[in-house]
Amino acid sequence: MRRAVFGLAVAVVVAVLVGWCVGGCSEEARQAAATEPAVLTSAGDPYFPQAGNGGYDVLAYDLALHIDPLRGSLEGTATVKAETKQSLERFSLDLQGLNIIQVRVEGKAASCEREGQELIITAPGMLQAGQVFSTEIQYEGVPVEMEKVAPVQTGWRHTGDVIFTLDEPQGAATWYPVNDHPSDKAAYVFRLTVPDGYVATGNGMLVGTSECAGECTYVWSMEQPLASYAAGVTVGKYVEKRGAAPNGVAIRDFYAPEVAAQAETIFARTGEVLAYFAKLFGPYPFDAYGSIVLGAETGGAMENQTLSLYGRDVFERMTKDPIVAAIYLSHELAHQWFGNSVTISQWKDIWLNEGFATYASWLWLEHDQGPNIVEALVEQSLRLVRQAGEKPAYDPGLKDLFGVSVYQRGALALHALRLAWGDDLFFAFLKEWAQRYRYGNASTEDLVALAREQAAKVGAPDPEPLLHAWLEDKELPDLPR
Ligand SMILES: [Zn+2]
Repeated sequence: MRRAVFGLAVAVVVAVLVGWCVGGCSEEARQAAATEPAVLTSAGDPYFPQAGNGGYDVLAYDLALHIDPLRGSLEGTATVKAETKQSLERFSLDLQGLNIIQVRVEGKAASCEREGQELIITAPGMLQAGQVFSTEIQYEGVPVEMEKVAPVQTGWRHTGDVIFTLDEPQGAATWYPVNDHPSDKAAYVFRLTVPDGYVATGNGMLVGTSECAGECTYVWSMEQPLASYAAGVTVGKYVEKRGAAPNGVAIRDFYAPEVAAQAETIFARTGEVLAYFAKLFGPYPFDAYGSIVLGAETGGAMENQTLSLYGRDVFERMTKDPIVAAIYLSHELAHQWFGNSVTISQWKDIWLNEGFATYASWLWLEHDQGPNIVEALVEQSLRLVRQAGEKPAYDPGLKDLFGVSVYQRGALALHALRLAWGDDLFFAFLKEWAQRYRYGNASTEDLVALAREQAAKVGAPDPEPLLHAWLEDKELPDLPR
C-alpha cells in the first residue's frame, strides 16, 4: 500500500476528452470538469507508462460482481477506498473496455471520461490532501481481450463455462477499475455471485457463502496487501480438498472434476513444501494456501496470492514428470514470499520474483533429493542463459520481462552469493529479506543494500561487485569456488 514511485509520477494534462462514460455521469458534474485540472495517469514505470496512476494510494477494493460463466460477462460494483497524497479534483483508475453505469465519489454522483485505459473521474468537490475517500463504480459488460504483453494471454479469460483471470504483468484492468501497478498494494473483498452449481474463487479466505437459490454468492477476503497483478478470480465446477501443512497453515485446493483424482496425488506434498519454505524464509505470510487446477488451458502457471492457478495444459506437463511437477509446485508456492509478500517496486526488478522463486525450487529439490540435483540444475541454467545470449537479469527490457535470464540468471546470482558467503550468512540474508520487506515493496537497490549490510555485520567481503556482475553485466561471470 505504499506508493514508492510517487515522486516519479508524470503529470499529464488530458487535453482531449474522448468518450464520456455510458450513462450515470451527471451533466452538472460534467460542467465542473471544464477546467480540466491535471490528472496523474501513470505510476511512472518505464515498462508500462500507461499503467497505474498518481495522487492517491488505494487502501481497499470491494468488488461485488455477478458473473455469467456461459456468456463470460460480469456486472457489478467496485468500491475503491483510497487516501489522497495531494489535494485532488480529478483522478484516474485503469480500466479497459466494459461499460460504466454510474460513478459516485463519497456517495455523490461524479462525472467520468474514458481515454485509452484510463477512467478519469472528477470528484463532486475538491478532495483534500490526506483525505480517505470512497469511489463507487457500477459497470458491466463482456471484458475485452488484452493486447498480448506476456508469453501467455493475460486479463479476463473465458473458455467454455470456465472463467479465470491472469493479470501479470497487466490484465487486472480488463475486469475491474484499478490502480494497476505493483507499488500500490491494497486489501480486497470479492463478492462473487455465480449460478448454482458453480464455485467462484478469489484471493484470501472464503468468509461467507450465501444460501444458494438459483445463484450463490461467495465472499472472499484478502486482508494482507495484494498487488493487482496477483489478484485472481475463477469460476468453475470444482472438487474441493482441504488439509493443513505440518506447521498448521490451512491448505485448500480446487480441482476440475476430470483431473481431481490425479491432482490430489500431484499436489499431495504442498504442505510439506510450505513448511520447509517457512523454515527457510520465515513464517508463511498469509492465512491459507492452495492450488486451482482448471478445466481450461492457461498457457502457464500463476502465483495468484493464496491460490496459485494451473491450467489443464500445465497440469498435463506436471503429470508426465515428477521433477517438473515439483518445480511448478515449489516455484508458485515460493512466490507467496517472493513476489506476493515482498513485491517488486518496478517491473525492471522482476528477477526479485522469478529468480527467487526459481532458486527456491532448487532449494526444495536439494532438500528432497540431495545436492547432486542442484549441480545439474546449475549446469542446465548456465547453458540456458548462454543459449539465450547472456542477457542481464535486472532491467531486462519489456521484451525479456519473462525471459530466460530473469529466471535462470536471477537464480544463479543467488547461488553465487551462497557459494561466496556460505550457508549460514546466505540463509540468514534470505530470511531477513522476506522479513524486512514483508507485505511491502522492494527494489534491486534495496536487495544490494541489505546484502552489504549483512556482509558488513560479519566482516564478509562486499557482495556488490558479485551481484552487479551476475545481475547487470552482459557476460556471465564464473561461479565462486
Ligand atoms: Zn514465477
